[in-house]
Amino acid sequence: MPRPALRPASLPRRAPYVDRVPPEARTTRRRLRACHQCDWLMALPPLGSGEQALCPRCGHAEVRRHRHPAQRSLALALAALVALGLALSFPFLGFSARGVGHRIELTQTASELIVRHEPLVALAVLLTILVLPALYLAGVIWLQVGLLRARPLPASRLLARGLAHVEPWMMADVFLVGALVSLIKIAGLADIELGAAFWAFGAFVLLLLATSQSVDRDWLWFALAGEPPAPDGSRTGRPAAPQGLAGCPTCGLVGRLDAAGHGQCRRCREPLHARQPHSLQRTWALLAAAAILYVPANVYPIMTTTSLGHASPSTIIGGVVQLIEMGSWPVAAVILVASVIVPMGKLMALAWLCLVAPRDRRDRSLTRTRMYRLTEFIGRWSMVDIFVVAILVALIRAGNLMAVAPGPAALAFGGVVILTMLAAMTFDPRLIWDDPAGRLAPADEDAPA
Ligand SMILES: [Zn+2]
Ligand SMILES: [Zn+2]
Repeated sequence: MPRPALRPASLPRRAPYVDRVPPEARTTRRRLRACHQCDWLMALPPLGSGEQALCPRCGHAEVRRHRHPAQRSLALALAALVALGLALSFPFLGFSARGVGHRIELTQTASELIVRHEPLVALAVLLTILVLPALYLAGVIWLQVGLLRARPLPASRLLARGLAHVEPWMMADVFLVGALVSLIKIAGLADIELGAAFWAFGAFVLLLLATSQSVDRDWLWFALAGEPPAPDGSRTGRPAAPQGLAGCPTCGLVGRLDAAGHGQCRRCREPLHARQPHSLQRTWALLAAAAILYVPANVYPIMTTTSLGHASPSTIIGGVVQLIEMGSWPVAAVILVASVIVPMGKLMALAWLCLVAPRDRRDRSLTRTRMYRLTEFIGRWSMVDIFVVAILVALIRAGNLMAVAPGPAALAFGGVVILTMLAAMTFDPRLIWDDPAGRLAPADEDAPA
């Protein structure tokens, strides 16, 4: 009976999946990617730490490589969770005016909205600043612990897919800006005290941003599930869809589509589409709904300040005018840009992209893609005004002396922000690069086979 070969003593029984050797060094096959924003099929080059692979056609960053990605994400996520724990354990802000005052905790920014009959706005605040970031961090820790033990923990693939969907909805950084704006708004009216939780929350915001930046999705999926070879006959340097291929929006793997242009990722099970089904119609519908909500968002008061029994409601524009009268020009500019110019500009930019994408010249595609990226990036910052309302409602409660109540515009405006974010996600930027004559972009120049 032959004896089994012994492992050399120097090699650990289970080498960690995630170590210094990047995916490029572990496979001799070319690893293909289809750009998410222009559908260009390319082969990933070998990447060193700190390097990124950009799409040669539109410049979109496909992969960013970090040194020790698992250890880095794990350390940052743990630190962020500790900071969040501290931010929830101490007073967030203190307020006092003419001898009346109190302190609030972070969670009261949501709970006070429930008391004032705005449960949906409260839910949005709770989800975007606390629940989703906490779930995201726990998910990152779960994944990276499994990879460092060289044995992925249960449900790792499901979790890795989920993280990609949660990320755009985390808005702790926007909330921090909202807190700063609130403080400047009431600085002249009352004494404000920054609690220990305020500083802890600031640290949490920075660590959360660093964590989401540190997650190397390409490496993560390679470590979790390896990389199946690209479909036969894939040719780089031309669009993927006319070849019957599509890149996975979650893990990046290139997969084969059926005749109708749909499929499923072999690695992460995410649905694949040559182009998002009914992308333009859905975007139009979401934009129309946002445009309708934009009217009550600006006509009705976003909050009502009661001072010595006298109630003064203020709309979004009214709040900007009030800030200018107080002499707070920079804050007025922040609110004007975040609450008026960004939502309006985003509505118009997406509507224009929907109009020109199916029927215009291709030579402006790069400019339009940049415009799309901008609308996608800045959309969430419009939530600043909602967070300002949440903080002021919780903080300014001094009986008859002074109080702030949320107005009906808060819900409407929150709806505008969420609907325009969904519209930007539903719009398929690959449509910008397609030939108006055919539904999908053809190869630019056919190289000899
Ligand atoms: Zn591209
Ligand atoms: Zn996938």
